[in-house]
Amino acid sequence: MKVMRRFLLYGQRQRLHSRGFSSASWDPLHVCVVGSGPAGFYTAEKMLKANEGAEVDIIDRLPTPFGLVRSGVAPDHPETKIVVNQFSRVASHDRCSFFGNVSLGSSVSLSELRQTYDVVVLAYGSESDRCLGIPGEDLKGVHSAREFVWWYNGHPDYRDMAPELCNSDTAVVLGQGNVALDVARILLRPISELETTDIADHALDFLRKSTIRNVYLVGRRGPVQAACTAKELREILGMKNLNVHINETALVTSPMDEEEMKNNRIRKRVYELLTKAAKSSLRDGSTDMRDLHFIFFRKPIKFISEDNSTVSSVHLEKTVLKENGSSGKQVAVGTGEFEEIKCGLVLKSIGYKSLPVDGLPFDNDRGVVPNVKGRVLASADRMDTKTEQGLYVVGWLKRGPTGIVGTNLYCAEETVASILEDVKNGKLIPASKPGRKGLQQILVEKGVKFVPFSGWERIDLKEKMAGQLKNKPREKITNWNDLLQAAIR
Ligand code: NAP
Repeated sequence: MKVMRRFLLYGQRQRLHSRGFSSASWDPLHVCVVGSGPAGFYTAEKMLKANEGAEVDIIDRLPTPFGLVRSGVAPDHPETKIVVNQFSRVASHDRCSFFGNVSLGSSVSLSELRQTYDVVVLAYGSESDRCLGIPGEDLKGVHSAREFVWWYNGHPDYRDMAPELCNSDTAVVLGQGNVALDVARILLRPISELETTDIADHALDFLRKSTIRNVYLVGRRGPVQAACTAKELREILGMKNLNVHINETALVTSPMDEEEMKNNRIRKRVYELLTKAAKSSLRDGSTDMRDLHFIFFRKPIKFISEDNSTVSSVHLEKTVLKENGSSGKQVAVGTGEFEEIKCGLVLKSIGYKSLPVDGLPFDNDRGVVPNVKGRVLASADRMDTKTEQGLYVVGWLKRGPTGIVGTNLYCAEETVASILEDVKNGKLIPASKPGRKGLQQILVEKGVKFVPFSGWERIDLKEKMAGQLKNKPREKITNWNDLLQAAIR
């Protein structure tokens, strides 16, 4: 009898969910989104809108939501952070709940989540860094740009980083993407322009004392291949206290470069901006002028320390571009000619990296979870198209660490469309798992004190009030204990 009843219910549910994409249901679809950055919040928003029966829980290892919008976006880009208003409305939706301070892996395992929710969407992004794999990478004074970004943005894991800003007057940034421009700008901006942003107070103290006046932005390829975008480049080139140095010989283009620019408007615009900057005369504005050097066609070979402890120079090899047969891309090839830049700080800005968790198929070569339109594949072997039931991925973990905040909107749309299609086709059965109650039970059993969205609102209020006293939009709380305390009281 029990078996028959279960069978009937299954059939009823299938019929109901076969009616259409946004069909309402008496059985809620229990969805857990892991990660509360843009990819996670856009997924939650799309899911709540598209399926009126969906209940969405968002978990995050930090007590604070918003991922890269809080920890990644530069403090002097407040307009990019406005999107948190939209995300806050999502979190306050009556079918959505936020569980901060819940870490996938230690607080709850992936297999527990999959047993608890009909749908698990992984949106935890890229919390690690690509490596160069060259000698001296672990010297003091050599950091990833991500660590530096997390430090100035008050991420609680990096408040004690203490970057070496007083060792010399020169910093080298490796890579020429938008993160490289962000860190260069923060190192070079007049302190008065940072004081009224939401930059962490500990970072302001360090930057006030900083002796860095020269930043070298080093690219292994040429100006046509610089990975930054035009808007961000224009911003740094326009800084009033800055002289920009570009060797005009690096601007000579090949027919392949011309072809690249013909096919990519952004590459062309970036090249034009760099050319214009190279031809501009140097400024003699304020007494506290700083210098930004764009260095092209150089790849890092090793980091040197004069005292066997802290970096004192970067050795670079000159490169030329060769066409790579398989990708058709122009790649940098060493020429056997070398040079060095003396410096006291190196920031490696060569890309973020995602990390796997136990039980998750992972493509180590590409650093992503293998997937088809957000459906997680059972293995990274491209011949195997079997998917993992109820498991999805979105954001940087799905497509690699590229794209701006808004890119995640389209990425989330694709993943949510896959989920809805699987519901419609009866591959996912709503309410077949306990959902929120199940998660709460696991957290109680493990003694995990989660921070609900109201806890974040308390933190938010305290940060804004502390900011008011200093003419800042907020003064971030940057320590785990203080964050957890602020969330309660
Ligand atoms: P990115 O745009 O991929 O740039 C990575 C840079 O590192 C490239 O110049 C790349 O050169 C270089 N690189 C990679 N491996 C290297 C190696 N082994 N040796 C030397 N150089 C190497 O990454 P990102 O700057 O971390 O940015 C990530 C994403 O966030 C991007 O899509 C970016 O636009 C976005 N973002 C946007 C903003 C904004 O809109 N304001 C701000 C920050 C970040 P090759 O081209 O030769 O590989």
